[in-house]
Amino acid sequence: MAMNATQAKNLSKRVKFGTPGGHKLCALCRRVALRDRTLCRRHAGVSSPGPGMAEYRLLQRWRTVALIPPDLAAHPAYASLVSLPARIRCPHRVAMVLAWPTRHEEPMAWHALAEHAYRLATEVAPVARDPGLGLAHWDAMT
Ligand SMILES: [Zn+2]
Repeated sequence: MAMNATQAKNLSKRVKFGTPGGHKLCALCRRVALRDRTLCRRHAGVSSPGPGMAEYRLLQRWRTVALIPPDLAAHPAYASLVSLPARIRCPHRVAMVLAWPTRHEEPMAWHALAEHAYRLATEVAPVARDPGLGLAHWDAMT
C-alpha cells in the first residue's frame, strides 16, 4: 500500500535516540539535545525547576505508592503547611514523612518538626492557588 507524504515523514523519524537523522545529543553529556541546539537542557543553561520542586516530585511519588501514612497526612502540623509555597512546604513535609516512623522513639525531634510546621504556617504568607486547577487533593498530601 502506498504511503502518503505524512506517513513517509513520520516513518522516517522512527529511529533510536542518537542515530544519525534522529535526535541530536548534547555535545557535553550525550543526553538528548534541545531542538536546533547542540546542548541539553542542563548544559544550555535552561532554568531548572524552582526550589522545592524535587521534594514536591518525591512526595508525589511517595503518595502514588502510598508511602505517606494517612495518619500523617491528617496530622494538624502536616496539614497546616497546605497553603504554603512548595519551596517551603515540600522540604518540610519530606522531613516529616522521614521522621514519622521514629516519632515515639524520638518525641522531641518530632515535636520540634511539628512546632516548626506550625510556626511556618503562621509566619509565611500563603500562596493563592487557582481553584480551577483542581489540584487541591494533591496538595493535601504533597
Ligand atoms: Zn548536556
